[in-house]
Amino acid sequence: MDYQNVKGTHDIILDDSIYYDYIISVMTNVATSFNYHKFVTPIIESSDLFIRGKNDSSDMVRKQMYTFNDLGNRSITLRPEGTASIARCIVNNKLYANNDFPIKAYYYGPVFRYERPKAGTYRQFHQFGVESIGTNNAQTDVETLLVSYQILQYLGFEKLVIKINTLGDEESRNNYRDALIKYFTPLIDKMCPDCQQRLKLNPLRILDCKSPEDQELIKNAPKISDYLNEASLKRFNECKKLLETLNIQYEVDEGLVRGLDYYSHLVYEFQYISKKSQLNVGSIGGGGHYDNLISEVGGPSLAGVGFAFGIERIFSLLKDDELLPKLNNGIDFFIMPLDEKYMPNALDLANYLTINYFIVDICLEKKSFKTMFHKAINRKAKFAIIFGENEINNKSFIIKDLNKETQDTVKYEDFARYVNEKCRPHEEHDHCCCHHEDGEECDCGCEEGHECHCEKDNK
Ligand code: AMP
Repeated sequence: MDYQNVKGTHDIILDDSIYYDYIISVMTNVATSFNYHKFVTPIIESSDLFIRGKNDSSDMVRKQMYTFNDLGNRSITLRPEGTASIARCIVNNKLYANNDFPIKAYYYGPVFRYERPKAGTYRQFHQFGVESIGTNNAQTDVETLLVSYQILQYLGFEKLVIKINTLGDEESRNNYRDALIKYFTPLIDKMCPDCQQRLKLNPLRILDCKSPEDQELIKNAPKISDYLNEASLKRFNECKKLLETLNIQYEVDEGLVRGLDYYSHLVYEFQYISKKSQLNVGSIGGGGHYDNLISEVGGPSLAGVGFAFGIERIFSLLKDDELLPKLNNGIDFFIMPLDEKYMPNALDLANYLTINYFIVDICLEKKSFKTMFHKAINRKAKFAIIFGENEINNKSFIIKDLNKETQDTVKYEDFARYVNEKCRPHEEHDHCCCHHEDGEECDCGCEEGHECHCEKDNK
């Protein structure tokens, strides 16, 4: 039987998984520095969390959800996005009870959408997102954009395209919706079946249609900017001004409506075309403001704003443009017992070294010296620790520096000092900083502030 991964899913392994962790750590660090807190919510939710109204018009809710009945006959959905889960979590846990707003959450994890797989599009992919709930103004909307912008800067993306738009408040959107219905009604027979459906459910969604024929008709559709009431226009202008103050360059794209129905006021999206392969995998992230989501899931009337990044797309673009940092993923020691009977010593040694913050691996089965040596090289080990009968009898280990190709026999009583001085990886700036009498900088490897153990005379 040949088992394959499910269509649209992928394994994240080896160096790629280290890079995923790196990307998430950059995102987490920035979100944490803006005082967002980690929320971990279940991957499965009640389906009605996402299908809140039977009129939900987004493709994601209508066509892309993984929904099934569990053994208790409950309708369960694998989350297709993170925002609704965060909203539910805030409401269930009454996090609004002490009136201290905004509630700032960040999250990370897999999401599921039954989409047609293509470059940068999966059925199970990973999102990192933030949500800021309970404060309703332009500053809060722009703060989330700033967090996402800072993340992309830290990751090294230059020449990003940041598209923004406003969907206005309810009154503005209702006026705009009427104008769209008036414009599209005489054209709708020529448009795709999805757009025919969208006209009935939410004509704004038509603006998102990817069909080239429909795009031609969409070009001349009314623009939201002509239907914004004074308050919505003022708020959008405030957002633009704040972005200018922050020196964040943006383009206004009146066709940007985002894929979900709950947005109002500011919406934004990040695009980046790979310089190397000109790869356009679609947007790498986006977000926006919402007014009614918290009340729709049973909470008080609180506004929110947030964004989500797609980790797969970000990773593939960083890789393509060689923006990922060099990995330093070798190990410190490879432990090579020369006989099976010394396995307990090997485990004991690994225990000691790992407790002392070294990274080790052990050859845990009987292998020839040559094979063990190859394993050490494959693991990019800096040192091999070798011991057989002689060493055990002499209470010593052989420590072989695999880069310098030198080796020492080290007695048990000298072992701790030896590994700390000679084998401890250290940053340039945190060695002991002594200078020898001859004026040379000491390179003994002692940590800063520690007594220097090297044999030369120090100043
Ligand atoms: P959305 O929740 O639709 O606003 O999407 C936010 C981000 O998730 C997008 O900008 C993409 O980077 C990513 N994304 C959305 N759908 C997919 C998908 N099917 N496969 C991979 N990444 C996706």
